Amino acid sequence: MELTIGWLYPSLMSTYGDRGNVICLRQRAEWRGIRVNVLSLAQDTPPEEFQKVDVLVGGGAQDRQQEIVMRDLRGAKAEAIREKIEAGTPGVFTCGSPQLLGHYYEPALGQRIEGLGLLDMESKHPGPDARRCIGNVVFEVTATRLAQDLQKMLGAAPVIIGFENHGGRTYLGNVEPLGRVVSGYGNNGEDGTEGAFYRNAIATYSHGPLLPKNPFIADWLIQTALLEKYQRPVSLEPLDDTLAMQAREAMFKKLTALKK
Ligand code: GLN
Repeated sequence: MELTIGWLYPSLMSTYGDRGNVICLRQRAEWRGIRVNVLSLAQDTPPEEFQKVDVLVGGGAQDRQQEIVMRDLRGAKAEAIREKIEAGTPGVFTCGSPQLLGHYYEPALGQRIEGLGLLDMESKHPGPDARRCIGNVVFEVTATRLAQDLQKMLGAAPVIIGFENHGGRTYLGNVEPLGRVVSGYGNNGEDGTEGAFYRNAIATYSHGPLLPKNPFIADWLIQTALLEKYQRPVSLEPLDDTLAMQAREAMFKKLTALKK
């Protein structure tokens, strides 16, 4: 079996360490004997290349870089991403990336930038003097289908441990939130929602990077990508995640104790 990871704008959207998601996906797939290609999807990539992608990864970016990406993504490339996500290709989009999948993003300075409008949500930065949403975050996955899949994998309610660093605030319309914040800011620090889940696309404010801290999400993405590609369920050999799980446990205890 083989998987192609499509990595959105690696040089412009790697400010917050989200390349760790690509490394984690690749390594966990290769440990199971799956061959992995990493395809950079950037300014010079012809839109046809997007067809090859089995799983999409998009990282965070500062407002300036995000604006360049959002302008480049108009037309055929936007259409190619839309088709992929609508067809069920799984993906993980962190912070700046979900902002560009929504209707628009209003940066700290300057004009509103149109997004792909794929997720019914809007993101606005309140301005350069506003407090950034920075810190460790804990949230419970509530998106129904994903929560059920993860519950089966873990034998427990799925909790995500991450780290957020954003100025923009996201407000959801008619799209399912990814989760409910236990500790931290999440989408906007007001309504308790975190991220969004649409088809098989995971949108989140959680860096960390997300996947090494929450390896079951990486396995869900790999399994879903293989199911979509080969049209049959594939069960992955378990890996020894003891260290990651111990680190999560310690962080969970610390952050929920701080809250009390
Ligand atoms: N520029 C966006 C914001 O500040 C995204 C930041 C990020 O990707 N971490 O909200």
